[in-house]
Amino acid sequence: MSHRFDVVVIGAGPGGFRAAKRCAQAGASVACVEKEFIGGTCLNWGCIPSKALLASAHALLSAKAAAQIGVDIPTATPNWPNIQQRKDAIVTGFRKGMTGSAQASNITMIYGNATVNSPGRISIQTSGGSTEIEAGKIILATGSEPIELPNIPFDGDFVISSKEVLSLPEIPKSLAIAGGGVIGCEMACVYAAMGTKVTIIEALPQLIPMEDEWAARLVQREFKRLGIDAVTGRKVASVDKSTEPAKVILEDGQSIQAEKVLVSVGRRSAIDPQIVSNLGLAMNRRSVAVNEKLQTNVPGVYAIGDLVGTTFLAHGATAEANVAAANATGGDRRLSDYSLIPRVIFTFPEIASVGRSEQACSKEGLDISVGKGFFKANGRSVAQNETAGQVHVVRDKAANKIVGVTIVGFMATEFVTLAAALIGTQGRLDEITFPHPTISETLEEAIEEAFAQN
Ligand SMILES: Cc1cc2nc3c(=O)[nH]c(=O)nc-3n(C[C@H](O)[C@H](O)[C@H](O)COP(=O)(O)OP(=O)(O)OC[C@H]3O[C@@H](n4cnc5c(N)ncnc54)[C@H](O)[C@@H]3O)c2cc1C
Repeated sequence: MSHRFDVVVIGAGPGGFRAAKRCAQAGASVACVEKEFIGGTCLNWGCIPSKALLASAHALLSAKAAAQIGVDIPTATPNWPNIQQRKDAIVTGFRKGMTGSAQASNITMIYGNATVNSPGRISIQTSGGSTEIEAGKIILATGSEPIELPNIPFDGDFVISSKEVLSLPEIPKSLAIAGGGVIGCEMACVYAAMGTKVTIIEALPQLIPMEDEWAARLVQREFKRLGIDAVTGRKVASVDKSTEPAKVILEDGQSIQAEKVLVSVGRRSAIDPQIVSNLGLAMNRRSVAVNEKLQTNVPGVYAIGDLVGTTFLAHGATAEANVAAANATGGDRRLSDYSLIPRVIFTFPEIASVGRSEQACSKEGLDISVGKGFFKANGRSVAQNETAGQVHVVRDKAANKIVGVTIVGFMATEFVTLAAALIGTQGRLDEITFPHPTISETLEEAIEEAFAQN
């Protein structure tokens, strides 16, 4: 007889793991199936390792600029093997922590590749063979994969994805980055700090195209100081691997020499097509279609995280997990306002925004006023020698309400949550989504605990 669980979660990334935890806390028997590592993309190939590398890069830049604040550091050089070792140790440490947390929460972790045969039946291919389990409810949280450019497919060596760029055996002398979005810009900062000649090629007219133009302009100016070149409004056409170093050819014929090319043009939802066809899941292009309760078209089957293609952020996945888990265990919750989920980019300087951008408001024809704050006029920023940055607060004049905040500057990702609280919650602090990974998440933990107590 196969085991039966009230809820089976497929995927143990931030979305799946949070969902499993919330269901278990609600008293359900829960299994979480994972085909690779606990923590998913976020812990193993995403948020955490990238932030570990960014921390080393920031330390290096701070050491080099230390003389500006009266501290002489004769030489500051990257020790790449140690930087890599530290990053890997952080990842394995959190894997252990999450495994312990699963045990403590009574979640049955099953390692293997899951296929859903029908709404209540899941078969799992483990290293020891095939096994089948039954589920009252299913939460799909299978994540996403990097988008490949058809003209320059990934080869794992010269044309690489966000996975390989985190673990390069050596610091490359030169790196071309196709795609100036979140991942491309963060990796540009890491390698520029390490001494790599970095060139970003972005097809749209500005870097970080999802943010307001002023923010992109400010970041691009700071990138220039770091030695990062940015080519905007042009696409990569092909690569020429016959030369040493190889070359990236742009559509207008310009060529850029590079030891490696990182293709970071976005991610797309990923799910085994067999699960889609066996369940008859309704899709929204490549993502699983869900309603505000995170229900799919199949009763008893929910989908969350990168798989539903909403935020492509870890804390977006956990926000959806909270809602899906509540609904899978008898609750009735909705996630209707995605604009209140902060958007965070951990570049030098950081970029964080919440609510509606100035551009979005203008497109909607909203009558707005914009208030600005400047890091160069802020005591702490000047004392810290981190003076590049601005805060823009967007107010809907008719409603006399703040509708959006964008922050560019030191620690922007840490205090954007405060802006989210201002805009959206009207005092309901338990409804704030905290960006990941930030120190402010410690506050989230404390708030959750406070609300969990009667
Ligand atoms: C380089 C990089 C940096 C990033 N930095 C940030 C950041 O700073 N902040 C942020 O918020 N977001 C960041 N992200 C995005 C973030 O990692 C994702 O949004 C997040 O991991 C999505 O969580 P998820 O639970 O939906 O999916 P995932 O984390 O992708 O987890 C899905 C899991 O499902 C498993 N799985 C898939 N199919 C099956 C199956 N059939 N059976 C069993 N298991 C299966 C996979 O192995 C995987 O472990 C970053 C991403 C990258 C690539």
